[in-house]
Amino acid sequence: MSNITRPQLGTLSVWAGEDEYLLQGATQVPVVHSVSFGYSDMDQWLRVALGQEAGHIYSRNTNPTVHAFEEKVRLLEGAAAATSAATGMGIISSALYTFLSPGDRVVSVKDTYGGTNKIFTEFLPRLQIEVALCDTTDHAEIEAEVAKGCNVLYLESPTNPTVKVTDLARLAKAGHAVGAIVIVDNTFATPINQNPLQLGADLVLHSATKYLGGHADALGGVVCGSKELIEQIYHYREINGATLHPMAAYLLLRGMKTLHLRIKQQNESALKIAQFLESHPKIERVFYPGLESHQNHDIAKKQMRGFGGMLSFMLRENSLDAVRRFLPRLRYAHAAANLGAVETIVGPPATTSHVECTAEERQAMGIPESLIRYSTGIEDTEDLIADLEQALAGV
Ligand SMILES: *Cc1c(COP(=O)(O)O)cnc(C)c1O
Repeated sequence: MSNITRPQLGTLSVWAGEDEYLLQGATQVPVVHSVSFGYSDMDQWLRVALGQEAGHIYSRNTNPTVHAFEEKVRLLEGAAAATSAATGMGIISSALYTFLSPGDRVVSVKDTYGGTNKIFTEFLPRLQIEVALCDTTDHAEIEAEVAKGCNVLYLESPTNPTVKVTDLARLAKAGHAVGAIVIVDNTFATPINQNPLQLGADLVLHSATKYLGGHADALGGVVCGSKELIEQIYHYREINGATLHPMAAYLLLRGMKTLHLRIKQQNESALKIAQFLESHPKIERVFYPGLESHQNHDIAKKQMRGFGGMLSFMLRENSLDAVRRFLPRLRYAHAAANLGAVETIVGPPATTSHVECTAEERQAMGIPESLIRYSTGIEDTEDLIADLEQALAGV
């Protein structure tokens, strides 16, 4: 499709995926709570059941509201197909277990989301699946591990909590050279800032719980890619049963209508906040891909349209105690284990993404005790900066 006829991302956020399900002039997609769908025509029932005709049979498999949500994400990622799950972890585990069997090998990075990391370190080895976890920004090491052969190359960019960025086009090429399926967790960037499929990935997935929904009121996961790959993940998820609930699908769908506006605001605010923090005497270090001081700024500039709403920073006083004094002083930030919402959310990795690790393990992973993860909300930038300023004055 040419650029003239293909709607842009904002228009897609609002309209995509909906028309098929607008009933009797309704302007909004209904929440279809029905578990099953009946057919008086046995032949039609059979055709739908066999996938020869569009339609729904049973809501563990497919459901109209859930399908509308999948369609919206699919169109935003520019993919041929999409399927969903009850949570981000539901779709990540479905994707990994679909393509990995005993004797297989997967290459990934050390900085994946905590739950994903648990699959790599705890569950896959139990099935005799070899896992090689590389330094997240050491592209040569990742390429060398991939060249030894692997079935899946699993990437995430930017990562949690120090927002490292990996060169997705470069690594997708390395993965394809050995016939691996290249999967990218695009939760932090969102389809507004980055489209991994256009950079060469085979599958892009999201914890829709975060930015896609954007209101911290519904859990969900979604994966997009070719029809052939998505059908296999769909089949696994359909049988394992981690299905997205229609009510959650509706909340995510509604949240996504403002995705482009939220991300635009969050991109702008996060950059200004990162710059403000970087020049503040009580701040030791700021991690944000939009800063020139960021180790992967050049890669981020090349593959992202915006640098996202996630940043992290270290207080000069490097102790959990300093964090303990700082966080409660913030007026416009929930201290919570979540991200990507309209409200600003803060938390130390010690109690959020890396709560399972010991202080020594966090140190080894390059996560200082005074690191604070900051998920920029959609509040006015000036208010967020003033809030940080007064909170820092008190530590
Ligand atoms: C939250 C998160 C997940 C897991 O998503 P859930 O919806 O909580 O299961 C996966 N990847 C990233 C990057 C996340 O932030």
